[in-house]
Amino acid sequence: MLNCADMKQRFFHAIKNGEFCVWYQPQVDMRSGTPRGAEALVRWKMADGGFVEPAGFVAELERLGLMERLDEEVLQIVCRDIREGKKRGFSPGTVSVNLSRLHAEKAGTADRLKEMVERHGVSRREVSFEITETAENAANDIVMTEFAGCLRENGFRIAMDDYGIGGSTLKLLLESRFDILKLDRHFVSRIGDPRTDIILDSTIAMAGRLGLEVVAEGVETIDQIHFLMRHQCFIGQGYYYSRPLDYEQYVRWKRAAGDSWFCGKTNALENGRI
Ligand code: C2E
Ligand code: MG
Ligand code: MG
Repeated sequence: MLNCADMKQRFFHAIKNGEFCVWYQPQVDMRSGTPRGAEALVRWKMADGGFVEPAGFVAELERLGLMERLDEEVLQIVCRDIREGKKRGFSPGTVSVNLSRLHAEKAGTADRLKEMVERHGVSRREVSFEITETAENAANDIVMTEFAGCLRENGFRIAMDDYGIGGSTLKLLLESRFDILKLDRHFVSRIGDPRTDIILDSTIAMAGRLGLEVVAEGVETIDQIHFLMRHQCFIGQGYYYSRPLDYEQYVRWKRAAGDSWFCGKTNALENGRI
């Protein structure tokens, strides 16, 4: 276990050394099976070639106040990938970047993120943001509401991530303006349980009435897709479609899926199964 100073040193060395990578997990319009874009998920590449998942370092970096720096690194990588992709005639769709709620406490973050995106010649439609609720010392709701407002004023769509998990999400939903609500995997994985189904049914309906688009996380089975579509949730992300992929794999995946890779899989939906 590294102490605080060692961890900070290790982190900045990793940034300089390009050890942080971004993997892309596709988001799919479940009606047609066509890709909509992807969520950017950070990985830490180790010397032995293995990758550490966020569960192994995000909480610690948040505790040390380093997560904002990492999120900006992730955004830089995403913008660079989008820019390089364009040169090859590839459009990744909208890439959704996770932001720690700790950003909300720092003045000027929304403008800095906008400048970063503009500097790379990336449009606001190509990047959106997800606000995560993992931070222990999460920003209070007023600060959060202002931050979300600034991002939206700067032209970005924003998602409330992991809806239903963590504190004060209904209150936050009441006070802040989001564009997208991401249903947490915890609920999606329990579809079929009568109480879960009631909660999802009413949550999706409420989101619709509030004008929010709903994205379901952790979609793994066709039965979950049937349920979600029957309840008017049309965008899905999960292992059913794809695990997170490195950029080159994502380019190949999306090029193949662009011709409705999943039509075969989801045609069942159109054939009266939902
Ligand atoms: P998240 O933003 O809710 O991301 C979704 C997580 O669910 C990802 O885990 C993804 O790999 C996993 N997942 C997606 N579909 C399925 C599925 O069908 N089945 C299962 N079992 N899992 C699925 P991952 O990549 O380990 O990320 C965990 C969390 O770490 C993320 O949850 C997010 O809160 C945080 N995170 C990841 N990258 C970043 C980042 O760049 N910045 C910040 N602030 N947080 C990040
Ligand atoms: Mg997320
Ligand atoms: Mg999530």
